[in-house]
This record gives sequence, C-alpha cells and structure tokens, in this order.
Amino acid sequence: MERNNKRLLQQESTSKNKQNSRIWHQVWDLNIKHKVKHFLWKCLHDILPTHDNIFKRTGKGEPWCRRCGESAETLEHLLFFCRTSEQIWKTFPIQWDGLEHLKGSFWSWWESLQQARERADGKAHIEMTTNLLWHIWKARNNWNFNLINQEGYRISQYAMADWFEFKEANLLNTCDKPENTSVLNSHDKTAELQQQHSTIIYTDAAVDQQRDKFGIGITARDNKGNLISTWSIPTSLKGEVATLEAHAIRTALLKALKENWTSILLLSDCKVLVDKLNHWSEDLSDINIILRDIKTLSSSFWRCTFSFVKREINTCSYGLAKFATNLVNETRWKNSFPVWTSTAAQTDYLAVAS
Ligand SMILES: [Zn+2]
Repeated sequence: MERNNKRLLQQESTSKNKQNSRIWHQVWDLNIKHKVKHFLWKCLHDILPTHDNIFKRTGKGEPWCRRCGESAETLEHLLFFCRTSEQIWKTFPIQWDGLEHLKGSFWSWWESLQQARERADGKAHIEMTTNLLWHIWKARNNWNFNLINQEGYRISQYAMADWFEFKEANLLNTCDKPENTSVLNSHDKTAELQQQHSTIIYTDAAVDQQRDKFGIGITARDNKGNLISTWSIPTSLKGEVATLEAHAIRTALLKALKENWTSILLLSDCKVLVDKLNHWSEDLSDINIILRDIKTLSSSFWRCTFSFVKREINTCSYGLAKFATNLVNETRWKNSFPVWTSTAAQTDYLAVAS
C-alpha cells in the first residue's frame, strides 16, 4: 500500500517536473529582454519581493498594498487586481478575457496563456503581455520608492513601445541595412511642398504574409519637423498592396478631418496611387472606388496635396504599419512618442529638409 502511494507520488512529481520544464522552456524561448525573463521567472516562483511575500518570509513590514490599501499585496493583487493595474489592462490592446477566472493564481493564468502559441500571432501577443507585466512591476516600484504615479494608459503604451523597440533592434541586427542611394538630391520638390502646407502626413501599409495580417501606419508632423501624432491601425481589409496603400491614405484623410487640420500634404510611397490621384480619370476598377472616396474627402480641406515619397524616407509610417500587424486595436500616440518613432520621423524629415 505504502509502496503504491510512493509510486503514485513519484509519477505525480515526474509529470509535474515535465510540466515545469515545459513552462521554463517556454519562458526562455520568448523574444524579450533578459531582465524581463528573470522577472517572469520570479513571478512563476512567487519570489518577487511583494509586501505580502516579504511579510510572510521575514515578518517585517506590512503585507498591505500601498497603492490602494484594500488588500494584501500578493503577486496576483499587484499584477491584476489592484485598481491601478486594472486601469493598465483596460487600455492594453491585447485582452485575455478567457483567462479572467485564472487570475487568482499567476502560474495557472500563465500556463493557460501559453495556449495562444497555437495562433499565428500568439507568441508575439505573449511577449507583449509579458512586457506589460514587467512594466506594471516597474510602475509599482516607482510608486512605492519614488512616489511617482503614472496613468494606466501610459504604462501600457510604454510596454508596447518598449517591446517594439526591442524587436526592431533585433531585426536591425539580423538584416543588412539598405544601400545608401542618392535620395537626398531629388527632394527639392517635396521640401518646397512641405513649406506650403501646415501638416505633413506620411502613410504606409504593411503586410505580414506568414500571419495574414495587415496594418496601416500614419505619421503627422508640422512643417518644422515636429511630430504631432502617429497611428498604428490593424486592418482586416485584404487585397493588393496598392489597395491597402489607398486604404491607408483614406484613413489618414479621415483622421485629418477629425483633427481639423486644414492644409495637408499627404505622402505615400506608392507611386501608382499618387499618379492616379494627381491625374484623375474615372474607371471602374476596385481601387478606383477607394480613390474616388479619397478625392471626395480631399475636397473638404482648404489645401490637400498628394505627393510621392521614397520608401527609404517613409520609415516612421512603415514602422507603425508593421507594428500594427501585431495589434488587435488601433493605437495612437500624441504629445509623447516612443524613441523609435521620434528617431525614424526625424530621419525622414532630415532627408528632405537638408
Ligand atoms: Zn492595491
């Protein structure tokens, strides 16, 4: 009898070990910063120095959450249930509604989250989510040690920007940089056009064929080069690249109308489209339905000009479009921008202005 029990216990522990090693493997396999992996590892071991953990282990201090004072600061409280954390999750573009009931145990929640790996974009969503957890922890520390209170939506924006920057840096390391062609000489016309309009809007579309995902990127700045606003918009619209580019232009016009911008220069790196818009002739192709829309919308502005921009200097919107292929909901940045966006926009601007 005793021997049977022992065997059962052994079997249980072997299967638990296998399960554990699978979970650890999945942690190390994530394309995220090392410090974030270590953070996640501590969460899964429940050894993060939360007030509750410190109190249980050393008897020192108080177990209570200092942000809300409503509950002991356990790992789960701090990551999911604290009011600030709830706000952060609400503004995060990736939602895990199906895992609501598992939030009481971080391990179970994380384990179920791994099922998303079966989806094409699941791993990226897990990586972004892990980055968010890390940023929730950082924000908690900022509050506890520096008394800095950050708004929830900002923290979810930081988390996404941070993840994307890391991803981009990895990509840059693995790809050769494009050849430095003599793009600078041919931009006199664009430079002149920029001075004639108060808002310059760059548009682009990106396709992730492997995952069948489409995204639109829009960058708006004033004619001095300052960023005003950027958008990353995932779209379910499918079709030729030109159709997506046209969709990006139409979306940009709708955004501009909403913002009450009156004098806009709209840039696209799709030359066919720009030519079609500038030398308009009716025909019945699919793409013309969108183009007719664009023409109608453009008449709502005091001044609206379409112009071609080379791909090499449309990098900010391209980055935003690529980013959008990872998103579920539209994301907008205004007033403050992730470093990679500012840098790309600045490079695009200088290439024309210099
Ligand atoms: Zn709390």
